[in-house]
Amino acid sequence: MLDPVNILLVTVLSSIMSLAILGSLRPAGIPGVGRWIGAYAMASVALLLAGLQRLGMPILTVFVSNTLLALAVVRMLEGCRQFFGLKPRVPLAYAGTVALATGIVWWYWVTPSLGARVAVVSAFHAAIYASLGWLALRCRPPERPVYSYRFVTLAAWLGAFAHALRGAMYGSGFVKQYGLLDFTPLNVAWLALGILVLPALSVGMVLLAHDRMAERLERLANQDELTGALTRRAFLAQANTLLEAARDKGQRITLAILDIDHFKSINDRYGHATGDRVLAQFCRVVKSGVRVEDVFGRLGGEEFALLFVDMTRDDAVRRLDELRVLTLSVRRSADVQARESAQDVHDGLTFSAGVDEFQPQDSLTTLMARADAALYVAKSRGRDRVVSI
Ligand code: GH3
Ligand code: MG
Ligand code: MG
Repeated sequence: MLDPVNILLVTVLSSIMSLAILGSLRPAGIPGVGRWIGAYAMASVALLLAGLQRLGMPILTVFVSNTLLALAVVRMLEGCRQFFGLKPRVPLAYAGTVALATGIVWWYWVTPSLGARVAVVSAFHAAIYASLGWLALRCRPPERPVYSYRFVTLAAWLGAFAHALRGAMYGSGFVKQYGLLDFTPLNVAWLALGILVLPALSVGMVLLAHDRMAERLERLANQDELTGALTRRAFLAQANTLLEAARDKGQRITLAILDIDHFKSINDRYGHATGDRVLAQFCRVVKSGVRVEDVFGRLGGEEFALLFVDMTRDDAVRRLDELRVLTLSVRRSADVQARESAQDVHDGLTFSAGVDEFQPQDSLTTLMARADAALYVAKSRGRDRVVSI
């Protein structure tokens, strides 16, 4: 079982299984998956050829297999770069592949030296795996759970370590070996560590792809697509959590409900698409006018909620009055984007808001009901104002 050829063949089988799993992720359109599939297809062929080394045919089983395996790990690195939104191509890695191929030709046919060949191949793989591990460590989006990213880093760095150690041992002449598939303890240990990193990394890549899909679903559930504000469900959940924390800490929290004035007339005059643009721009302006810790959600249609953490009612009213000035410019600029010829749009966008502060006996429902009642008063008093009662 521990014959190096068996280890290679098991890795070939596992690479083929990795291909099947990565293939199932392809329709999700996750960046990088196509390159990972290419990488594992090349790795499967390369490892199969390497496993046939005892049959001779060194052009295929030494030169082609090593070069193809090098291209496979470069492809894998490129897939990871694409996954993380970087430019995939790494010219240096291709230069390294050419150097590796040249080294193999030189040290197999011109001046035969197994040690030098192993050293050059190992150095190449160590470098690629090290940068792959670094990439997964550095590029994790800060809000994502660390598990899958750390898994990739750990697997890649273990591979890099195994290859570096092997390269140093063979390159320095510390280990003497006459055939690459010799059945020696060190060779078996190297193969187990260095080659089994491929299946481990394929698991890591599947984990990354799943994390990306989970992120998409979370975003769909929590973020309103048109405006980028929190969805009603996500806003209520966050607001409830913050109210509970505020109750424990005796923190002050103020809630405002905002409703755009006469929004229906924008739709009626300029069409729904312009209305959509106005909504999106309104939300951009609101978000840029509040602090990051304030929670902004779309309750429905053109009605929004703002939860101001650590803020009194008076301060919140002042902040909302500042927002009223900022959002005045929204309608005109959105219309200019929509139709440059729009002559008749001179008035700005206004909103009305009802505000109230959280009391210890409040639930989110009672607080929202008071803010809503205040909004109703703001509308009935002529709109374009902030009311707190
Ligand atoms: P008021 O000042 O009393 O709030 O008047 P209003 O016209 O803003 O309020 P009303 O409730 O009469 O109309 C709201 C309009 O908002 C009607 C609806 O078509 C529009 N609306 C809701 N959601 C969207 C959306 O996602 N996109 C667009 N374009 N319009 C929307
Ligand atoms: Mg309205
Ligand atoms: Mg409304």
